[in-house]
Amino acid sequence: MHTTTVVIGAGHSGLAMSRCLSERSIDHVVLERQEVANSWRTQRWDSLRLLTPNWQCRLPGYSYGGSDPDGFLTMPEVVDFITDYATLIAAPVKSGTPVSSVRRSNGEYRVTTNQGEWRCETVVVATGAFNVPHVPPFADAVPSSVTTLTPLEYRNPEQLSEGGVLVVGASATGVQIAAEIQRSGRQVTLAVGEHVRGPRVYRDRDIHWWMEAAGVLDERYDEVDDIVRARRVPSMQLAGTPERATFDLNALTSMGVKLVGRLAGINGGRAQFSGSLRNKCELADLKLGRLLDAIDEWAHDNGFDESSPPPNRFPPTVVDDSPPLGLDLTSGAIETIIWATGFRPDYSWLDVKVLDAKGMICHDGGVVESPGMFLLGTPFLRRRKSSFIDGARADAEELIVELTSHLDAKRSSARD
Ligand SMILES: Cc1cc2nc3c(=O)[nH]c(=O)nc-3n(C[C@H](O)[C@H](O)[C@H](O)COP(=O)(O)OP(=O)(O)OC[C@H]3O[C@@H](n4cnc5c(N)ncnc54)[C@H](O)[C@@H]3O)c2cc1C
Repeated sequence: MHTTTVVIGAGHSGLAMSRCLSERSIDHVVLERQEVANSWRTQRWDSLRLLTPNWQCRLPGYSYGGSDPDGFLTMPEVVDFITDYATLIAAPVKSGTPVSSVRRSNGEYRVTTNQGEWRCETVVVATGAFNVPHVPPFADAVPSSVTTLTPLEYRNPEQLSEGGVLVVGASATGVQIAAEIQRSGRQVTLAVGEHVRGPRVYRDRDIHWWMEAAGVLDERYDEVDDIVRARRVPSMQLAGTPERATFDLNALTSMGVKLVGRLAGINGGRAQFSGSLRNKCELADLKLGRLLDAIDEWAHDNGFDESSPPPNRFPPTVVDDSPPLGLDLTSGAIETIIWATGFRPDYSWLDVKVLDAKGMICHDGGVVESPGMFLLGTPFLRRRKSSFIDGARADAEELIVELTSHLDAKRSSARD
């Protein structure tokens, strides 16, 4: 089979690119291993809602049109939103078609699937950035009496035994899961490393409203000092709840969650925590202050001081004077560990030499180091919001320009 472009993955990123390709009448197919919006159907816990407000659900030619723009979609609603988009744009999706290999041969790509091989001039990798949970190597040393789960396996507290739970990692996933389990009556200990603190509401508006208005979410990959570092920054401690609650560490402490430092290792059945908890929290408080300073400056310059409450600052994160540096995992106090320690993409099917030592695709704003290959949907691909639904719109609209010029150049050199 031959087509001009193969898009791999029918999440919102692949569909956004499909719409851009259709607009330019570029012949293409979207290959999806399972169904449209598969990640949202199969890889999220039951209670999860988007942490981005509904008004930020925007894709090329499509946006949230419901009655609650300031609310947060549930997972079934996200699946409907993305599935409706696929239907609206008549995306040529081939479901149940896992890609098992992509090779480059004689100036074209060969994409192997269970339905045969596609040959094409350009490939768009839109397979997601969060396919595989990252679990630290010392996870193997957890005593067998303790059950371990990744966020992809976690569904709800009822799945856990009644005893204490250690949640490792305090970014958006870790704080949401920790809060839910604590509310279920189980004692949660939260191991906190580097994290990004964020209030849900600031000066009467959603923090995402301010971050968008002040240009924070649109900051470009070629404008930041250290893009490698920027791509690794953990997600902000946010959740989307009907109450618009803040999920920072002070909120968790007030629920009864116990904070400890970063889990540094497990030795002889004992979890060892770093002594850096206070430093990490002070750093997160400092960075939150800087973000709010930037927002206040923007608000002042743009006439929002009159219509908004005055600037305020949140109390520093409260940390015990001497949080425990160890925890005996054989004592029965902890029955479950949840590894909220991040996610990685899965490119095990990619047979083109474009991966760095950490297994990430080498690219410049989504233009991969292999002619005619493009990437979408990874953190800070072209701007800070790239891994959000809203980020795919701007990124796809820029990458289609790159893809089209690649095709034009290829065709004109073939004519010469
Ligand atoms: C827990 C969590 C919460 C999030 N919350 C928000 C939020 O509130 N707001 C927001 O905007 N974003 C959120 N995100 C981020 C973001 O929206 C997701 O990363 C999103 O799923 C990325 O979309 P995508 O289309 O790039 O990838 P995905 O949605 O992951 O889609 C990739 C698709 O590729 C398919 N695929 C993978 N490998 C293959 C293969 N070899 N062959 C064929 N198909 C393949 C998959 O089945 C999948 O359907 C969240 C992410 C996570 C993990």
